[in-house]
Amino acid sequence: MMKICLDAGHYGEYNRSPAVSEYTEAECMWKLHLLLKSELEKYGVQVILTRTEQARDMSLTERGRRGAGCDLFLSLHSNAVGDGVREDIDYPVAYVAIDGKADEIGLALAQCVEKLMGTEQAARIEKRRGSNGDYYGVLRGAAQVGTMALILEHSFHTNTQMTEWLLIDGNLKRLAAAEAAVIAQYFNLEEEENMLRYERLSDIPDNWDKEGDPRATIEKLMNAGILNGDGSDRSGNDDIVDLSHDMVRTLILEYRGGAFDRALIAAGFEPAVEIS
Ligand SMILES: [Zn+2]
Repeated sequence: MMKICLDAGHYGEYNRSPAVSEYTEAECMWKLHLLLKSELEKYGVQVILTRTEQARDMSLTERGRRGAGCDLFLSLHSNAVGDGVREDIDYPVAYVAIDGKADEIGLALAQCVEKLMGTEQAARIEKRRGSNGDYYGVLRGAAQVGTMALILEHSFHTNTQMTEWLLIDGNLKRLAAAEAAVIAQYFNLEEEENMLRYERLSDIPDNWDKEGDPRATIEKLMNAGILNGDGSDRSGNDDIVDLSHDMVRTLILEYRGGAFDRALIAAGFEPAVEIS
């Protein structure tokens, strides 16, 4: 089983934003790492956290060493430049271990943050060497136990717009889902929920409607390009449709009423209703 160690940058109310005073890096990243844990668990990943209490500090290298036996150590942060507000600096960066192991996933995660947060400058990765291996303590600790490691900076809390964005819980949830998807893709994981529910059309029951065949109808609408999957099938095979029974019922009723007939005929398919 895949195992990932998540580390929330800082503790308590550490690193208050000079731009938006209610924001602290420590509190925001604590929330984000819990959300990311839940999202990763959907892929069957075992997630461990470096700390169990938000207000409790732990040394940097010790946090890194908590990643022992994990496939990835990921420390979550928002960045700062100088002491005051700097609206002109706005980019995500992954500080990756100097061993280069995390270069690829680090860039993919930083680019994912760039896309979601809409940062002004491009995502990047950086490495920093200290006198004794990695400059950053968490990366040094993780390297000591042989775990691939990176620090992900979610742009800058010295930038007003980015800080305000990070204060919205819905945005953190979207970030967590997107980052989990990047990690899953990197490790070739499939969402367990998907495997159970979203095999192509399997969520549409076979004999749900005695009068007709809902599956055949939905299949026909998909083949005609009228109904599209949601693009969430990461295996690159058939796209996935995720329809509730009510939505299937509505689609079937519309189909029978001829709502899609023009489009079906245009796509070279039989219409539902004979047109005289
Ligand atoms: Zn930080």
